[in-house]
Amino acid sequence: MVAALVVAGLGELVRRLIIRKWPRLYLNPKTACFPRICPVCLSSNADSSVDEKSAKRQTRNYIVAQKLEWWRAGVPHCSECALKLSGNKAVGLILGGACTVATLLARRPPELSILTFCYILFGYPAYAIATTIHKGIVFGRASSSIMCVHVRHAEYLKLLAALNPVSYARAE
Ligand SMILES: [Zn+2]
Repeated sequence: MVAALVVAGLGELVRRLIIRKWPRLYLNPKTACFPRICPVCLSSNADSSVDEKSAKRQTRNYIVAQKLEWWRAGVPHCSECALKLSGNKAVGLILGGACTVATLLARRPPELSILTFCYILFGYPAYAIATTIHKGIVFGRASSSIMCVHVRHAEYLKLLAALNPVSYARAE
C-alpha cells in the first residue's frame, strides 16, 4: 500500500517535470473551447479528437469511500498526432499491465518481491512518460469553476486564450 503511494507520487513527479516549463492557462472547464489546430505539431488539419482529463479532485471524504471529480474534454488534434498519442497510451497500458502482473507475483517469496517492487517502481513513471512526453496539451488541477491547462507551444496558447476570453494566464 505504501509502495503504491510512493509509485503514484513518483509517476506524478515525472509528469510534472515534463510539463514544468510549458506555459499554462486557467480556463472555465464548463465553457472551454479549443482551437481547431493540432496542439502537438500546430497543423491546421485537426480533424481527430483526443480525450483529455483533468487531475482528479477529491470532493468528499467518507469513511469507506472518497468522491473524486474531474473534467474531461475532447481536444482537436491532427489524425497523425492522435494516432501517435493512442500508440503511447497502448504502451502505457502494457506497462500498467506489467505492473499488475508484478504486483500479483509479489505475493511470492520476499526476494522476488524486491525485484517486482523495482518493476513497479520503474513501470509507473515509464507509463507517465509514455503518455505525457508527446502531448501538446495537458490538463492539470481543476476546481468546479477553473481548470489549469498546460500547453506545449506558445502559438497554441495564444489561440486558446483568444477563444476563451475569461481565461487568464499566470506566471510560475
Ligand atoms: Zn499534429
